[in-house]
Amino acid sequence: MALFKLGNTHLPHRKKTACVASVRLGKKDIVVNIPMSMHIGAECTPLVKAGDSVYVGTIIGDSNAAVGAPVHSSVSGKVTGIGSILSINGRNVTTVTIESDGLFTKDPSLSPVKAESFADLSRAARNSGLVGLGGAGFPTAVKLDEKKISQIDTLLINAAECEPYITSDTRTIIENSDTLKAAIETFLTLSGVKKCVIGIEKNKPEAIKLLLEKFSGSENVLIKTLPTTYPQGGEKMLIYNCLGRIVPEGGLPADVGVIVLNVTTLTYLQKYLDTGMPLVEKTVTVDGSAVAEAKNITVPIGCRVGDVVSECGCDFENTGKIIMGGPMMGNALYTLDYPVLKNTNAILAFDKKESVKPKATPCIHCGRCVSTCPMGLNPTIYAKAVAKPIGEESYNLLLESKINLCIECGSCSYVCPAKRPLVENNRLAKANCRTYRERMESLKK
Ligand code: SF4
Ligand code: SF4
Repeated sequence: MALFKLGNTHLPHRKKTACVASVRLGKKDIVVNIPMSMHIGAECTPLVKAGDSVYVGTIIGDSNAAVGAPVHSSVSGKVTGIGSILSINGRNVTTVTIESDGLFTKDPSLSPVKAESFADLSRAARNSGLVGLGGAGFPTAVKLDEKKISQIDTLLINAAECEPYITSDTRTIIENSDTLKAAIETFLTLSGVKKCVIGIEKNKPEAIKLLLEKFSGSENVLIKTLPTTYPQGGEKMLIYNCLGRIVPEGGLPADVGVIVLNVTTLTYLQKYLDTGMPLVEKTVTVDGSAVAEAKNITVPIGCRVGDVVSECGCDFENTGKIIMGGPMMGNALYTLDYPVLKNTNAILAFDKKESVKPKATPCIHCGRCVSTCPMGLNPTIYAKAVAKPIGEESYNLLLESKINLCIECGSCSYVCPAKRPLVENNRLAKANCRTYRERMESLKK
């Protein structure tokens, strides 16, 4: 079985917001509901209680876990309660609710942060609450591992932004190119890494032109323009397409001398060093057929999705579906009260007509899902496995057919002429594996 192939799915781009300057949320009298887990790893414990006053940037949650990221208030105002929310991946997550006073007063204890070593930079990444902002949500400080940095020779910046509609990374490059340049210089100086490659799909001409200007004459920063084929932003695809290196199965980018950071993540890290303000806001692309005015909008983390889409003229009467993230990998929301998360890069609202789910028909064994899968997998096997009861047989079948390698890119579902819900099956298959493992573990106790 091939480890992976080049992404070869051609999607419509629909990046009409790429040329429009981002704006800030106009509504100030908001209530934010901030989850204590917006990252891969341990959930934070709230450090505030109802009645406490907070500022923008005040720490409100943290954990001692090795893999985690603290959480900060995105508004100034009063904590009104500690509650919980059903997250889109099905877990209950603790939340801190804060009523904004509308003033957005910065925490007076915050000041610029000095980083004189790679350990300082890693500490800054942790204190800033940074996680992978391309969608993964992996704590950035864990990636900036001091013990592994000597084996890295290349910083690879992921600016591919390969899903349709989403342009928030593109606007970050265009609107913060000096900060991005400073961030790269800081990283290379403190890490000792010699080379930086910025991987960007060629459907972003304005951003590419600006990057080429900013880094003209630079010997250690290379702009690598890539074909617009999905999923170009997948970490392993990006590493292969930019550097020709293959991450071994079960391995990490560090195993081939690479550290991959999303372009907005790296830019925020520099912003944190410059100002001391942790990650409290996010620029998200709002688009889709139910939205009158598509735009990139910078919003406080934890604010209601409903507040964000209404500022873009969402036709709620005729909205059939709202997706957090892109159309390929995003998740449909079950409530307009759902909060914007650290790693939210898009909110897409579709009208009722476009939201109708196509009827799945029987598999015609055409093999398109197999030939398009960038990881060389066979999604039809996963569909068969999830039809079986959770148990040893289905677990072994899923493991043998490498379900763990599925990056949930959605390419198989997209190309399937029978409209089979393949990526949904894959997610269910992974959940079934987790359930089986947990059952086996509990039997051992
Ligand atoms: S979602 Fe489908 S196409 Fe994408 S990696 Fe998984 S099996 Fe392959
Ligand atoms: S693409 Fe759809 S119809 Fe074709 S083999 Fe895969 S699941 Fe079956």
